[in-house]
Amino acid sequence: MTANILVVEDEPAIQVLIAANLTRAGHDVVTVADAEAAQRQVNQALPDLILLDWMLPGMSGIDLARRWRGEERTRSVPIIMLTARGDEHDKILGLETGADDYITKPFSPRELVARIKAVLRRRAPQATEDAVEIGGLRLDPVTHRINAGGRELSLGPTEFRLLHFLMAHSERVHSRSQLLDQVWGDHVFVEERTVDVHIRRLRAALEATAHDALIQTVRGSGYRFSASLKGAD
Ligand code: CA
Repeated sequence: MTANILVVEDEPAIQVLIAANLTRAGHDVVTVADAEAAQRQVNQALPDLILLDWMLPGMSGIDLARRWRGEERTRSVPIIMLTARGDEHDKILGLETGADDYITKPFSPRELVARIKAVLRRRAPQATEDAVEIGGLRLDPVTHRINAGGRELSLGPTEFRLLHFLMAHSERVHSRSQLLDQVWGDHVFVEERTVDVHIRRLRAALEATAHDALIQTVRGSGYRFSASLKGAD
């Protein structure tokens, strides 16, 4: 399982420890030391998960989590709070702000990696290694194989990521800018019509087995992966 993880932590020793362990676990890690730098990073590209220290210089981790939860674009990014505090009241406060989990320092690297994996499974299924199968189409993130009605398909890397995201979040409509954030990881430097180009390529690859019908255009909104043909626009 590989995820892009943003670590917001102001203590250099802990920053280094976390980054080393997450990198060893196969993740891509970006570390920043305060809320401002974290916000800049998030504006540039949405991470798959954020590890957020409670006590930061300037804006606190709690306030930052609250802000991200209040904004449409960042609302669903999984957040794990890190804190030196251990009492039950703080834990409840942390979870109330919308954090997905809460880890008290000092923690073992193994525990940290396990908790991240659990949250990713729950919140960002496209970042896990679980195969997805919908409507006779099966995508395996580990072997990078796609099987359509018994036939092996080959896709470019972007089409593969796009299909993986759509399948892992099926039946929901995703706007072009959401897809850029989630699949390209960057909505600033890529034009929205890029999404249409890759959707077109993806549909072309799925056409032979008629699975292209699973990718629906929702006029004025974006795209949806759906096993039911009802509701197609
Ligand atoms: Ca701190």
